[in-house]
Amino acid sequence: MKKMLNVAVIGGGPAGCAFSCFCQKAKITVFEKNEPLKTLLYTGGGRCNLAHAEFDIKDLARNYPRGEKFLYSVFYRFSTSDTLKFFKSLGIDTYVQNDKRIFPKTDKASDVRDAMLEKLKKGHVDFIRENVVKLEKCADVFLLNDKYEFDKVVIATGGHAGYSLAQNLGHNIIEPKPSLVGLITLEKFNLEGVSLRNTCMRVKNLKKTLVGDLIFTKNGISGPLAYIVSSLFARATYDESNPIELTIDFGCINLVEMLDKNGKKDVKNCISEIVPKSVAEYIVNHAEVEGKKCFEITKDKRKILEKFLNEFPVNVVGHEKHGEVVTCGGVDLKEINPKTMESRIVDGLYFCGEVADIDGFCGGFNLQNAWSTAYVAADGVLCSRCGL
Ligand SMILES: Cc1cc2nc3c(=O)[nH]c(=O)nc-3n(C[C@H](O)[C@H](O)[C@H](O)COP(=O)(O)OP(=O)(O)OC[C@H]3O[C@@H](n4cnc5c(N)ncnc54)[C@H](O)[C@@H]3O)c2cc1C
Repeated sequence: MKKMLNVAVIGGGPAGCAFSCFCQKAKITVFEKNEPLKTLLYTGGGRCNLAHAEFDIKDLARNYPRGEKFLYSVFYRFSTSDTLKFFKSLGIDTYVQNDKRIFPKTDKASDVRDAMLEKLKKGHVDFIRENVVKLEKCADVFLLNDKYEFDKVVIATGGHAGYSLAQNLGHNIIEPKPSLVGLITLEKFNLEGVSLRNTCMRVKNLKKTLVGDLIFTKNGISGPLAYIVSSLFARATYDESNPIELTIDFGCINLVEMLDKNGKKDVKNCISEIVPKSVAEYIVNHAEVEGKKCFEITKDKRKILEKFLNEFPVNVVGHEKHGEVVTCGGVDLKEINPKTMESRIVDGLYFCGEVADIDGFCGGFNLQNAWSTAYVAADGVLCSRCGL
């Protein structure tokens, strides 16, 4: 009888634990320097947005500024519906929110975590609480931290750590940069905490209009819409002399008619019917029409107000230094086989999750990447055994 494959998983986050759930025909040891699946607890504000209701593989892959083409074959093997089936098999029922984000029915990330850990308890999976700082390959055997030997190793260390393990085995690391992060603007809005729902935003030199929720922060903007911009521009250089030029369209169709109809009304109150009151205050201040009635607004000022309402300017000059949701960059995808997630440089070494140079927008795409690459890596490990 064949001896069971002895596999080490470095990193017990969503990707490493999903791999261990999928690879139960092997003997698995998960090395986790922290609590297993701790990162999952913070996802989706504690609700765990575990997938996105996009069932077409190409449309799903379009949500990954890094990794789109690589993910075609990965998603062909395991995508949204497989994620839902997998969680159903663990006893986790899900629901789809209006914006297509998928959550567990209980809205508790801890339930998803508990269900995965329960599954691992029943399998051939051991956890060792240890930081892996050294990984070598001697002949056909991997040596971890100078003391543990394994047939195969999976690196699932996420977006902040573990790059040196891959680098020391000859892999190229695409420089990590924050993505899905708050943005710093040239404008000092003084609108901290004000949120805009379902807002349309245009980006100079980008053809499509972006839509989503936005929140003003102390230094600029954040929220899903700002995250899309941060993700699209994660590799770009921008600063005060070369900002990312954005405009918000508040959808004001006919300002002239509105001002005429409300002649005696204070212009700020009139504009507050289109935008939140504090934003209206900012606009009338900048258009220098504070305290004026609608009928007092001259033609030139009407033009200025109209521009603010249809092309409210936001110039992005930097991003926040902390608090990014994902990292863009990681192990170069040219060095990973998308059919198996095996390294093209070191036989028997696999990657899954955010450690690879894959990152998606906000909305469940990053966890989908963790589940899908974990599945393909598990299949890759098991098939290497059967010689397929
Ligand atoms: C606040 C927040 C909210 C988020 N919400 C969502 C969401 O709702 N939906 C979504 O799709 N995505 C979300 N994401 C992104 C998502 O959490 C990540 O993409 C996902 O966790 C990546 O999984 P991973 O297993 O690859 O990496 P990680 O989750 O980072 O896990 C890696 C694990 O490896 C361990 N580790 C690292 N190096 C070593 C080492 N050398 N030795 C031992 N252990 C090691 C770490 O301790 C960690 O537990 C969110 C991210 C954040 C920060």
